[in-house]
Amino acid sequence: MQAEPEPLVVTTGRGLYCPPGDFYIDPWQPVQTAVITHAHGDHLHQGNARYILARPGAAIAAARLPQTANLLPIDYGTALTLGATRVSLHPAGHILGSAQVRIEHAGRVWVVSGDYKRQPDRTCAAFEPVGCDVFISEATFALPVYRWPPTGQVIEEIARWWRINRDRGIASVLFCYALGKAQRILSELAELAELGAEPVHLHGAMLRLTQIYRDAGVPLLPTLPATIESRQDYRGALILAPPSAAGSSWMRRFGEHSSAFCSGWMRVRAERRRRGYDRGFVLSDHADWPALLQTCRQSGARRVLLTHGHADALTRFLCEQGFESGAVATPFGGAD
Ligand SMILES: [Zn+2]
Ligand SMILES: [Zn+2]
Repeated sequence: MQAEPEPLVVTTGRGLYCPPGDFYIDPWQPVQTAVITHAHGDHLHQGNARYILARPGAAIAAARLPQTANLLPIDYGTALTLGATRVSLHPAGHILGSAQVRIEHAGRVWVVSGDYKRQPDRTCAAFEPVGCDVFISEATFALPVYRWPPTGQVIEEIARWWRINRDRGIASVLFCYALGKAQRILSELAELAELGAEPVHLHGAMLRLTQIYRDAGVPLLPTLPATIESRQDYRGALILAPPSAAGSSWMRRFGEHSSAFCSGWMRVRAERRRRGYDRGFVLSDHADWPALLQTCRQSGARRVLLTHGHADALTRFLCEQGFESGAVATPFGGAD
């Protein structure tokens, strides 16, 4: 019997590490070479000597890191030599610039997915299936209950909710993550002709990120900062804000309003009730259960390792399907 070859990715105290390439993927402690899958807070940390990342995500990473950070953007699909490995980044369909990491060494290929989704999203390049021997997949929503409705249907629901509130003369405050989700909503709403060019008001935490998407050529509804100066009266307006703004004094300017949260977590009724919003819209930038299964199969991998969230149920299911499967411990949250 052949000995099991050395793994191309292992877990260390600093993060996922590739021994033959001598680099880390999304490390949570400072390292020499960090390959970054995307700029969400649980994946992009300060203090690394150099950051290798996909070019479309470079402006976002630059906005979230100190000015002195050493960024090395590479194009999707272009291979780079790191140590004894060949490394390339491939679209993950999660947010602008999100990438899967393909590592090739001595005839073997491992892929680290980062966060990904399979639903269409106009704000970023679509997920690209990459064949491999071992696939390290996220598992944020890896329970059969998580199945996403079609995006168009969710956007129609949001538009209808806004229209009803406008008719009632109150503001609509839609909470969503500041990076990725907010821009996806603005881009999807821009497709609904009836809304015309009515500006959407943004919390300050979303302004710069939204401008980066606009500069990258992503079509979005017009936006204005949700400051007292921009509008005295928010009746009938749609406002996007990060969940951290809920209950803050910043909210007072909107007076009577309806609140909603836009997230994959809204698929579960108990979660909607717990969070106390008036409405919940099910829109996620992660793969749902069927998309996780589809992607694991498409990878052609014999072995699937899981990060984030609900690894247990998916591990069990994959083993029943003939995969080797296990969990990889990371502090990646399922928050985004
Ligand atoms: Zn993410
Ligand atoms: Zn994540």
